[in-house]
Formats: sequence, structure tokens, C-alpha cells
Amino acid sequence: MRPGEEQVAFPAVQEPASPSRPPSPASPSSSSHGRAAAGAGLRPAVIALDVGGTDIKSALVARGDHPGAPDEIVVERVVPTCAAQGPEASVAAVLAAVEALRAEVPAGYQVRGVGLAVPGTVDEDAGVVLNAENLDWVDLPLRQVVADATGLPVGFGHDVRAGGLAEARLGAGRGEPDHAYVSVGTGIAAAIVLRGEVYAGRGFAGELGHGGVRGGTSCPCGGSGCAETYASAAGMARSYHELTGTSAHEVPGSAEVLARAKAGDDVAREVWDRAVDRLGELVAAMVRVLALPVVVIGGGLVRAGDDLMVPLDAAVRSYLTIHPAPRLVPAVLGSAAGTYGATVLAWDAVATSDLEPT
Ligand SMILES: [Zn+2]
Repeated sequence: MRPGEEQVAFPAVQEPASPSRPPSPASPSSSSHGRAAAGAGLRPAVIALDVGGTDIKSALVARGDHPGAPDEIVVERVVPTCAAQGPEASVAAVLAAVEALRAEVPAGYQVRGVGLAVPGTVDEDAGVVLNAENLDWVDLPLRQVVADATGLPVGFGHDVRAGGLAEARLGAGRGEPDHAYVSVGTGIAAAIVLRGEVYAGRGFAGELGHGGVRGGTSCPCGGSGCAETYASAAGMARSYHELTGTSAHEVPGSAEVLARAKAGDDVAREVWDRAVDRLGELVAAMVRVLALPVVVIGGGLVRAGDDLMVPLDAAVRSYLTIHPAPRLVPAVLGSAAGTYGATVLAWDAVATSDLEPT
């Protein structure tokens, strides 16, 4: 965890009948072959990785020491993704991050699985990264690569959907079977949660940030005028630079754009208001199709608090007529949502795996 990033403790979550809980080491299912269960008496743990374009957040996470206790982060590391050195280097960095944590497992713990949250277009069912532009990964069967290298069950998912899964199970979406988690940061994407399950749409569901009017700023997706190019946190800063000639050094991000808007800078106000209006339109579009009662807002932009949430709520309402407006809720897991999501994916993989602990 880098300086300045918030440290979020695992919320205490009661999971009496959670399918994500792995069989207890002493349970009959893990000793069903008539021998003593491997790892009996050891605390089960997983290795969770949130792979980003710049760095990999990784954590060794153990089950709570009594039923109902929250998971416990035992070791946490942030290492470079090495994307500039090519796709082989970044895959090697992922494997090295797993092995580094495995080497640090304290006595009394046993790693049962790995969870990966990865960016780009991701087919969770196939375990394949279809396209992650920042990492130059194309059709990469990463789940199998990590499973082969580790011999462990591997949970695998898209970073925003993993974050949404974590918010759904542990955070702001708890108790809301139907909702969306919209992450507004470098890009704009949503995790759509229906009946408690994240709907992935073969990897393309919730990609709200792309597709737009013709003739606007060109976007890495191949389109132009995509909402992501000006309504994401990164897009706001970039728009402001273009309109004012300021540099990324002077105005690093959306927080500075907002600060300038509040200080009376008309261009900053216009950039901020236009972005919030477009976000409202995107949320309203989802609500028109899915009639979601709750939308969780996450990603870096949510740090703006009421400066975002109040006008966003008004914008969403302005784009709806017959549909009830959703309740907008700020995410609670912060920048650790991806790591929490990877943890949830790992436990789910452990629970459904046939592999015996070794
Ligand atoms: Zn685009």
C-alpha cells in the first residue's frame, strides 16, 4: 500500500451460509479419502492480486480465527507490473508476486488458492484476458497460467467486477440483491449485480465508458467522443489541460479540477459539471434498462464526496421520467476494492475446487 492510500480493514461480515467459505480442514469432505486431512489445524489463507497498469497490489489474506470473524490481511505488498517491458515481463511479475507472498507465509497458515483481479476486457468464464491495452495482453489465458505455475485453485475476474463483487458482499452493496457498482477513475465501468450475482456478459457488460458521439476526442478503444475521454477522473484532468494549456504537473487529477471549480475557475466548473452530467446520463441509461434501486459509486472520483454525489443525483434524476430514481451510495472499500474482490474470487475458487490442500 502506497503512502497516502487509505488502509481499509476487512469489515466484520457474518457469513453463516456463505458458499465462499472453504471446507474446514477437519471437515469430512477434506478427509474423504480415508487419510488425515492435509493442513489440519492450519489457518486457511489465499493470495489476492489486483493487477493494474502500473503496479500489482497483493495480499496474503487469512480466514478469521473464529466463525463469523472477518478475514485478516497477514501480509501486503505493492510491486511494479513492469508493463513497459512487454507482456512476458508483466505476466512474470504476476507470478513473482504470488511466489513472493508464498515465501512469506507464516507458520500456522496454509495457502489454499489465488485470486486475480485484472484490467481490460476479461472473460471470467474462460479465464482469459481478451484485451488489456495498458499491459499489451491479448487472448491471455491467465487463470490457467497461474494455476499451472502454482498448482492452486485460481479465482479470476475483471478488476471493476471484482471490486463490485467485494462491495456487494462486504461493502456498500450488502443486502441489495439488484444494484450496480460504477467505478469512475482512469476509466468508467460498472459491475452489474443481479440477484446477488455479478453479470459479466462474456466480459463486455458494464463497459459504460465507451461508445459515444462521433467527432469528439479519440479514445484508445477506437471510438471518439467516448464518455471516458472526458467524464472519467483522468478525462476531466485531460479536458482541463486541453482547454487551459495547464500541465499534468499543475493539475494532476480531478481533485484539482474540482478545487479550481470551487475557487471560481469557470473552465474548471464547466469541465466538472459536464463530466457529472454525462455520468448522470450513463447511470440513468442503466436504470432505464434494469430499473436498479441502488447504484454504488466507486473509483477515485468518489473521494469528492457530496461535491460529486449531490449533483450526480440531480443529473441522474434529470435523465429519468417514469423510472424511479436509484439511491446513489458511495463505495466504502476505496482503492482496496480490487484486492478485496480478488480475495472473494479466491475463496470461491477454493470452495469449488477438487484440489486437495498440500
Ligand atoms: Zn472509448
